Amino acid sequence: MHADAVVIGAGPNGLVAANLLADRGWKVLVLEAQPEPGGAVRSAELTHPGFVHDVFSAFYPLGIASPVMQSLDLTRYGLRWRRAPLVLAHPTADGKCAVLSTSVDETARSLEDYSARDGGSWRDLYSRYERVAEPLMQAMTTPIPPVRGASRLALALGPRGLLDFTRLALQSVHRLADEQFDGVGGALLLAGNALHSDVDLDSPPSGFLAWFLTCIGQQHGFPVPEGGAGRLTDALIQRLAARGGEVRCSSRVARVVVDGGRAVAVQLADGDTFDAPRGVLADVSAPALYRDLVGEDHLPRRFVRSLDGFEWDHATFKVDWALAGPIPWRAEPATRAGTVHLADSRDRVMAYAADLAARRIPAHPFVLIGQMNKADPTRSPAPTETVWAYTHVPQHPRGDGGGELSGTWSDDETERFADRIEREIEAHAPGFRALVTARHLLSPHALEARNANLVGGALGGGTMALSQQLVFRPVPGLGRAETPVQGLFLASASAHPGGGVHGACGANAARAALFADRRRAALSRFR
Ligand SMILES: Cc1cc2nc3c(=O)[nH]c(=O)nc-3n(C[C@H](O)[C@H](O)[C@H](O)COP(=O)(O)OP(=O)(O)OC[C@H]3O[C@@H](n4cnc5c(N)ncnc54)[C@H](O)[C@@H]3O)c2cc1C
Repeated sequence: MHADAVVIGAGPNGLVAANLLADRGWKVLVLEAQPEPGGAVRSAELTHPGFVHDVFSAFYPLGIASPVMQSLDLTRYGLRWRRAPLVLAHPTADGKCAVLSTSVDETARSLEDYSARDGGSWRDLYSRYERVAEPLMQAMTTPIPPVRGASRLALALGPRGLLDFTRLALQSVHRLADEQFDGVGGALLLAGNALHSDVDLDSPPSGFLAWFLTCIGQQHGFPVPEGGAGRLTDALIQRLAARGGEVRCSSRVARVVVDGGRAVAVQLADGDTFDAPRGVLADVSAPALYRDLVGEDHLPRRFVRSLDGFEWDHATFKVDWALAGPIPWRAEPATRAGTVHLADSRDRVMAYAADLAARRIPAHPFVLIGQMNKADPTRSPAPTETVWAYTHVPQHPRGDGGGELSGTWSDDETERFADRIEREIEAHAPGFRALVTARHLLSPHALEARNANLVGGALGGGTMALSQQLVFRPVPGLGRAETPVQGLFLASASAHPGGGVHGACGANAARAALFADRRRAALSRFR
């Protein structure tokens, strides 16, 4: 195939970028290193035949809310969203359970179990989101500066609302929770959602991320694709194929060929070269793209130096279980929830965050659990269930809060840390371990081996800390998809707005490539 553009990497961002270029009539070739496409959006029978597990990501509130993904209309290509009866349950040490439901009343009632005032506080927080949901999502998913989105946001808020919103955006999740809630339920609901990322719970933007993800869950639920995460990838590929695009797997790109300051082709590890006359879009981590594929000789010195400051997010440890039956939670709401967060007090949350900050493997990991069959019974034959979970661990552990592991993630350490995670679940659901018929573990190293973008097990393409957001992502500069090399665009989660399956990084790269192509064509007419 003679392509107009080559996309490196068939993750969601790469596939979104390819689709948007194909929509404009470009011939697009996607080259993927792994034997299967999808990046961190894949499913597989990891335990038993007939048990479908999501190998990496599982829940897609951003996918359903993102205007980029909406514009692709993937339900026409076989994607079907399913939701659990309850979005999220967070059981606490006192036997109660904070709940996120798509019914505001149900969420509020669960928080009133902790303090009569807290239901009203949640309604207030959510109403602030409802006022801005649409322009906010637009501002977050378009390139920096998000002129249209930001002005619509300012209009929706008005001067006083803008001040309140800016303050919220600059709060830590602990401060936000202290201001809003008297009981621990609301605080944990927010903190648990902040902990999907690697942000420091005492600093911004942890308050904003917690508020945003909790509210988006309130609005849309945490939906999953029927049949597994891989169905989302399948839909993206089918849509691309319908427009003449092609995805080639087991094709690791080893080099971006730069000629006269312009990316003109890519070369595979085996030497095969593919021309890319209209652009190369890289769904590859920023350090890998610039240091390994382009090479420092083709980049300005200052830019290369700024890459030294690039910070990865925490590592991830992932477990999938096949269970003989549903988890016997003590807290009833957890038996209906698609997602369960485990850290049963604020002390536990703080101890977990302190362990990570000190680069210790957490003694009591905060466990993010996906009970996949609650939303999608097709994942395994009834009454069995598939359960997905992950927790964060430090990138380069200096010790272990539990006093037994060194962080080499040898097979033995991997098994022992999974036992630690199981003990956290067992404490809230006695009898859980007896239901396990098989488990599949992915240590940080194993995650990276299955997807080179998950460096050291980082799932967000780089830290979500404020110092690497907006104009600072991936390095201080414009925060845009354009790179110092003409015709080369950064399309991965290392670019603004970062991790999550929303497609915005890919869409921004496609827009930048289309714009650059139009400008080049216009200039050539004048020559
Ligand atoms: C365990 C885990 C759980 C997660 N849970 C969620 C969740 O529930 N919801 C959510 O929204 N997000 C979640 N995420 C984050 C989300 O999956 C990522 O942010 C998202 O997949 C990023 O998309 P991407 O296209 O930028 O990169 P990726 O999905 O990582 O895809 C990059 C692709 O590029 C390929 N590639 C890399 N280098 C080369 C090369 N040199 N040549 C060819 N191909 C190459 C890789 O093999 C990979 O296929 C999770 C991630 C992980 C790891």
